[in-house]
Amino acid sequence: MNTEYEDFRASVRRLAADKIAPHAADVDDKERFPEEAWAALRAADLPGLPYDEKLGGSGADLLSQVIAVEEVAAACASSALVLLVNWAGTSTVVSHGSDELRAEVVPRVAGGEAGAAWCMTEPTVGSDLSGIRTTATRDGGDWVLNGQKRFISNAPWAEWYAVLARTGEKDFGVFMVHKDDAGISFGPHEKKMGMRGSPTTDVVLADCRIPGRRVVADPTQGYRYINGELNVSRALIAAQALGIAQGAFDAAVAYTCDRRQFGQALSRFQLLRGMVADMAVKIESARALLHDAVALITAGDPRARSRVSMAKLLCSDNAMSVTTDALQLHGGYGFIRDYPVERMMRDVKITQIYEGTNQIQRLVIAKDVYAGQVRS
Ligand SMILES: Cc1cc2nc3c(=O)[nH]c(=O)nc-3n(C[C@H](O)[C@H](O)[C@H](O)COP(=O)(O)OP(=O)(O)OC[C@H]3O[C@@H](n4cnc5c(N)ncnc54)[C@H](O)[C@@H]3O)c2cc1C
Repeated sequence: MNTEYEDFRASVRRLAADKIAPHAADVDDKERFPEEAWAALRAADLPGLPYDEKLGGSGADLLSQVIAVEEVAAACASSALVLLVNWAGTSTVVSHGSDELRAEVVPRVAGGEAGAAWCMTEPTVGSDLSGIRTTATRDGGDWVLNGQKRFISNAPWAEWYAVLARTGEKDFGVFMVHKDDAGISFGPHEKKMGMRGSPTTDVVLADCRIPGRRVVADPTQGYRYINGELNVSRALIAAQALGIAQGAFDAAVAYTCDRRQFGQALSRFQLLRGMVADMAVKIESARALLHDAVALITAGDPRARSRVSMAKLLCSDNAMSVTTDALQLHGGYGFIRDYPVERMMRDVKITQIYEGTNQIQRLVIAKDVYAGQVRS
């Protein structure tokens, strides 16, 4: 990695250590929005990373976004989720939206003044999006949306909601709904195991009328648009998992140097040194695969799809294992909320589930294996 990326990583790491990590336990404990982190991310212009300068962003590449998410997640996974969901929520508008729609949605999100969310999951629809029941119907120049979206990150904090809705028997569109539109409402705050600083609610659309300009390009191609964004969003979730693993690993290494038993530091016990070595291998191998997947995505290589599924799978499975071992290395103190590793172990679980469960990632990889798309 060249020094430009290393310098960027170091600057986000400092920001996360100084301005984000000190509030992470309180955010988790009170299940509150990470206000301090968001203010710090805005002050550092990080919400604008992926957007073109003309839209108020800094036009950073995907590797920079991945590095930012890794470093923020190492301090506070919820804060990283708020950031990356903003990017996912605006991604179809950036890639396919009209200039008018981009100008309406993106600049405030890029500046961190507004948040965005993406809304696919429904009460009866998770892994299989083809069963979506939310509908969008043309009425004169408007669209009218009806349905219910479940587990929507950044709701109700976000201003913009990218809603995948059915427009025909096999057709779907992406519609940008604003939180002030008549007919949108939000369910109760979900009480979660982890990511407790990231707000999550249902989004309910009851005869929600939006102007025609708010559909993203072709209203029959929404499913294709969303699929096209999954490579990037899965890379960002992989980065989030990896960041959490790194945070837990760093905490465990520090703890084992300080804590003494049987007259010596825990770090001297060979059994524990073996665990630490295995954890380091899990983190570094997952990071190498993720950065390789990012390079394929950036190059537009068709192998990117399975490579990013492998990276999402490996980063999240390894992160679950690393956080569990990090807690073990803390002994009983790891189980107590005074130490960050128990929060990290709770936070990381969802990375094996959202943005396509790890079972779904395996299906994607196997499909591409049999299509001859996987070999280097
Ligand atoms: C905290 C949180 C935040 C979220 N944020 C968002 C968001 O912002 N936007 C959004 O749209 N959604 C969001 N989700 C939803 C998330 O993406 C879904 O929960 C996920 O896609 C899985 O869907 P499901 O829960 O309906 O599980 P199901 O699809 O019902 O799956 C249940 C189990 O069956 C397995 N399974 C399903 N199909 C197959 C198959 N073909 N082969 C083998 N196994 C299979 C799954 O892997 C899983 O283990 C969020 C969820 C949570 C908990």
